[in-house]
Amino acid sequence: MNELETFRQEVADWLQANRPPTPDFLLPESFMEVGTDPQFHYLRDWQRKVYQAGYLGMTWPTAYGGGGRPQAFQDIATAEMARLKVPFFPNTIGLFWAGPLILAIGTEEQKRRFIPGILSGDDIWCQGFSEPDQGSDLANAQTRAVRDGDDYVINGAKIWTSLGSHAKYMILLARTDPQPAPGRPKAADAPSGGRAPQSGDLGGSRSKRYAGLSYFLIPMQVPGISTTPIRKLTGEFGFTQTFFDNARVPASCLMGKEGEGWAIAMKTLTFERGASGGQAGGLTRMALGIGDVIELARRSRRNGRPAIDDPFIRDQLVRFQIEAQGDRLCNERGRFPALCSERPDAIPLSNKLRLSEHNRRLYQFALTLQGANGARWVGDAHAVDGGLWPRSYLNAFASTIGGGPSQIQANIVGERVLGLPKD
Ligand SMILES: Cc1cc2nc3c(=O)[nH]c(=O)nc-3n(C[C@H](O)[C@H](O)[C@H](O)COP(=O)(O)OP(=O)(O)OC[C@H]3O[C@@H](n4cnc5c(N)ncnc54)[C@H](O)[C@@H]3O)c2cc1C
Repeated sequence: MNELETFRQEVADWLQANRPPTPDFLLPESFMEVGTDPQFHYLRDWQRKVYQAGYLGMTWPTAYGGGGRPQAFQDIATAEMARLKVPFFPNTIGLFWAGPLILAIGTEEQKRRFIPGILSGDDIWCQGFSEPDQGSDLANAQTRAVRDGDDYVINGAKIWTSLGSHAKYMILLARTDPQPAPGRPKAADAPSGGRAPQSGDLGGSRSKRYAGLSYFLIPMQVPGISTTPIRKLTGEFGFTQTFFDNARVPASCLMGKEGEGWAIAMKTLTFERGASGGQAGGLTRMALGIGDVIELARRSRRNGRPAIDDPFIRDQLVRFQIEAQGDRLCNERGRFPALCSERPDAIPLSNKLRLSEHNRRLYQFALTLQGANGARWVGDAHAVDGGLWPRSYLNAFASTIGGGPSQIQANIVGERVLGLPKD
């Protein structure tokens, strides 16, 4: 066995020996549905345990608590977590986008202060981008941050703050200059429509239209910041509306310079959407996959026979499987620039759109296999698999909206990959 195969066996053995027992409450499917304290503590304890065992943040620098090892090791550890269907880590925003962002452009002080807590799960992060009137139209954020001596005073409201109830820190986009330029930016003005990544560069901050926005790494437990949980269409909780009422944070919370917020937000989105690498690893969700749907098709009946015998069902399953395999191979291919030279942005910029829409269609298909029973919800004794499928279907919309809706992602692909005109 070579070194990587030996490592794979080591991780698999560790995960099997240490996976937490199934709790007596329903676990959320992803970090976006962590709604109760028992769910949160169960998942955070698991993250801490995996980190302490050395299987999380394996590529991050050792100076900040990471493992300092090659990417291949983290990839194997994450793949084994998926294969063995262990729980996900709740600190997704920290591990997958705030952390890589801080490592990429943060100061030495910010790295030393924030990275260890992100990995251990001691410091849960949330993201304050969307506002009640500004989602895709992110450049129009109205939450104000006003410099006052050694502090900034923040007023306004953010919404759909995943993990808002449990977070210790927030990445915040706020307006430090109320009148950045004539003709306030609108979604239609923003490159590729609102939440569009700018190839990860910071040059976008030079555009005067975005110069009024600044980026902060702020503590959540300060007077003047409060959160109100929002119930989702599944009945679960997991995100909040977050209010700022003269909340005072130290000026050292500013990331970069005043006015650079838009460019830093765009860089954040490249991590969030998987367009840039450098994430800490691990799972962000515990999802039912194509294998589960095939198994469901074996158990389901159609015209008195197993559904999987139906040629139409088989055809659909094969299509889903080809797509899933294609997505997996795309990710591999994306790591080799020589294989993507024709359209280098195609894979990273289509990543979120492909994966989130695939899952939504997959769960929709799984529900059709169940006929009318697909409407039976969690807790219904007659529901297929305890009613988890309809929950997965409804939760699948979370990923097609959060981080920028599919329509926006399609705009990005159309304009930046295919070179289509904006209008
Ligand atoms: C589960 C979940 C978790 C979330 N977590 C967070 C979080 O932690 N932090 C955070 O800041 N936000 C979060 N969000 C918010 C999310 O980023 C926004 O919902 C998203 O950016 C869309 O913004 P909006 O809701 O204001 O919709 P709108 O921007 O009002 O869009 C409404 C519809 O119009 C379409 N549309 C808008 N502009 C265009 C355009 N230019 N071209 C084509 N179509 C367009 C959209 O595609 C959409 O279908 C979360 C959302 C969800 C669902």
